Amino acid sequence: MVKKVTSSTILECVRCGTRFGEQDVRELCYFPSTQVCLHCYELGQSSSYALWCFGKSNVLGPAGSISEYGFNLDAKACRDECPDRKICALFVSGVLGGAMGNRKVVCPFRQDQSMTAKAWMMCATKAVMIEELVRWVGRQGGDPGRILRIMRSGKRYDVRWLVDEQIGFLKITYQGGGVAAKHLST
Ligand SMILES: [Zn+2]
Repeated sequence: MVKKVTSSTILECVRCGTRFGEQDVRELCYFPSTQVCLHCYELGQSSSYALWCFGKSNVLGPAGSISEYGFNLDAKACRDECPDRKICALFVSGVLGGAMGNRKVVCPFRQDQSMTAKAWMMCATKAVMIEELVRWVGRQGGDPGRILRIMRSGKRYDVRWLVDEQIGFLKITYQGGGVAAKHLST
């Protein structure tokens, strides 16, 4: 239920502190029910799953199990409890936001917790600074060159993805394939 907005109500985003007017509420740039602005929700949607599940679909591993938890109408938290649940559903369905709207991602690597799988998931859910990725792999004792080759290859097993590299950032866009894709397409 949306709180009544009066001219004396202070409309301020609790995340970034930006102030908004009633016009912004009408244009869905600010949501009085949660006191969060559209920009912050968009940032949330493009952030990693670990940071905020907002606006994201579940990610399925190759075996069809959920490897990253996003919006799920069957989950009590998503259905009844989360303060963002109504707005999250709009982002997931692509009515608001867009970048991640209803995007299916199937990780090609079977061990969800392996370094390669984590690196792949990072690049598939947001643009990752290559320098940071290299540092991160190095800290885990991995071979950054090998991981980068895999990320840039665009194909592993039967999973295909697009590679987008710009100004030192790498982004993967899942294209298709993977065992779970068969479940999704039915
Ligand atoms: Zn904000």
